[in-house]
Amino acid sequence: MAESEEERHLKLTGEFDCDPTPLSTLRHSTSHVMAQAVKRLFPDVRVAIGPAIADGFYYDFARSEPFTPDDLEKIEAVMRDIAKANLPFERREMSRAEAIAFFRERGEPYKVEILEGIEADRVSLYSQGDFIDLCRGPHVERTGQIKVFKLLSSSGAYWRGDEKNAMLQRIYGTAWLTQEELDQYVWRLEEARKRDHRKLGRELDLFDFYDVAPGAPFWLPNGMILVRELEKFAREHLDARGYQEISTPMLVNKKLWEQSGHWEHYQDNMFKLEVEGEIFSLKPMNCPEASYVYRRSLRSYRDLPLRFSEMGRDHRNERSGTLTGLVRVRQFTQDDAHIFCRPDQLQDEITALLDLVREWYKTFDLQPSYKLSTRPEKRLGTQAQWDNAETALSESLRGNGLAFEVDPGGGNFYGPKIDIDVRDALGRGWQVATIQADLTMLPDRFALEYIDTDGQPKRPVAIHRAIFGSYERFIGILIEHYGGAFPAWLAPVQARVLPVSEKFMEYAKTVHGRLRAARLRVELDDRNEKLGYKIRDAQVRKIPYMLVVGGREAEQGTVSLRHRTGEDLGAVPLDRVVTDLTAEIAARVASLTVGRS
Ligand SMILES: [Zn+2]
Ligand SMILES: [Zn+2]
Repeated sequence: MAESEEERHLKLTGEFDCDPTPLSTLRHSTSHVMAQAVKRLFPDVRVAIGPAIADGFYYDFARSEPFTPDDLEKIEAVMRDIAKANLPFERREMSRAEAIAFFRERGEPYKVEILEGIEADRVSLYSQGDFIDLCRGPHVERTGQIKVFKLLSSSGAYWRGDEKNAMLQRIYGTAWLTQEELDQYVWRLEEARKRDHRKLGRELDLFDFYDVAPGAPFWLPNGMILVRELEKFAREHLDARGYQEISTPMLVNKKLWEQSGHWEHYQDNMFKLEVEGEIFSLKPMNCPEASYVYRRSLRSYRDLPLRFSEMGRDHRNERSGTLTGLVRVRQFTQDDAHIFCRPDQLQDEITALLDLVREWYKTFDLQPSYKLSTRPEKRLGTQAQWDNAETALSESLRGNGLAFEVDPGGGNFYGPKIDIDVRDALGRGWQVATIQADLTMLPDRFALEYIDTDGQPKRPVAIHRAIFGSYERFIGILIEHYGGAFPAWLAPVQARVLPVSEKFMEYAKTVHGRLRAARLRVELDDRNEKLGYKIRDAQVRKIPYMLVVGGREAEQGTVSLRHRTGEDLGAVPLDRVVTDLTAEIAARVASLTVGRS
């Protein structure tokens, strides 16, 4: 794995301590200017490190109180002055011993600690005006090149990320080449805050967490509709593609995990308990048990491929401090499958899988990207097995016309794999799906066999794959991707009937009944409230369609149709609303179409 900016800063090794591309050089240089501004305003603050990070930079400062939003504003103003002064970044070298003495004299213990921990004989220092910092560069030439930046937030951070060390105050900022890029970025941040799935999950009554079950959501009725619709979607696709669904036990004797190797390598992540004097564990994954299902009968070459899917409920003992909403949990449900095939079938299976992946993500308007990871140095299996598997994976990607990255050596010890990221509506990437060829792990450890054409027993290849990843995490991603405004097929409530007054309640009930009879998820707002209030409320709940009914609608058998976006589509015959909405849902259309034509 590549070293983080932070690690490189602490080590000061290599040619540069930050990525020498223009944008990260600019961001890193901005962090120096920020430190200079902080020292000017708060001379007793001690400086730690200030790397560029994705989309911005930070700097850590030793200070007893946190920085306030007011402080950030002042710091930003001083930074603008420093930028205007157009000071040059000047480099100078010292021996390590000199540098230690230099920073000790200036009362900068963190710089001294960094210097004491590195091996270089000589180090470089950079100054701009009255500020000097230990750094290998590179930087921009002058502070005047730093024009488009903004300080974002401040929070506590432990020195070197270790909770046993002192708590520092970290200020995050961002810097860009143009004002438009900065504006775009700030909009994305703001939008991401509004779309936070933990916030929307509560507001839309989708799920909740209670401290009696850290890392495991309580699904509320609305959220359970999302789960069920996704399960239905998945099952339809898998049934059509020859998968057979299985369900295997959650609580399993440790013997199984010893055989699979999890006991040796993974037991710290497993929840264990004793039952009648024997050790059991909640399964952290479904693979070994799928192998039991394969092994139940003698398989012939004609039986393969076998595709066992499982909505596998797994538990992993994540540290409580790392748990985050639905995206980092202890209990989750994988849309898992294990495919067992002959080596000569591998390419066809992967080709079909990639086609399935593309079809799934198209439904959600998520843009997938693909990464192929090939044989690592430490691996099991023969060269011929690896050659066959890597060819199968890369040819399948090419055959599907998919662009892909290659991560040489990044595969599992048991086989190459394809990881799939998706890009959401805010342009953020999420790792979701994985397709992993398994040449040896399940096949050898569980002695899987099939009888080949020559009458001899052979080892099948296994494929581990999940497309959503887990239902919990995928729903978290979807909530943020859609900002809670789900397509009609996923929406917990698809339509709400809004009578303009009590007088039209009878017709409103008829409309409500018609939609219910068509199995649409519909509500009737029979509260004695003004229409404007009812419309706003339905919009806040992000209900796709509002069916407003009054005298004219009752007379003509229509509804006055509104989309949650505020768009008013006027009178539409009730029959047509029912037919078109049913069709939109059946086709899982991403946008709202009823009333448009
Ligand atoms: Zn620097
Ligand atoms: Zn598996």
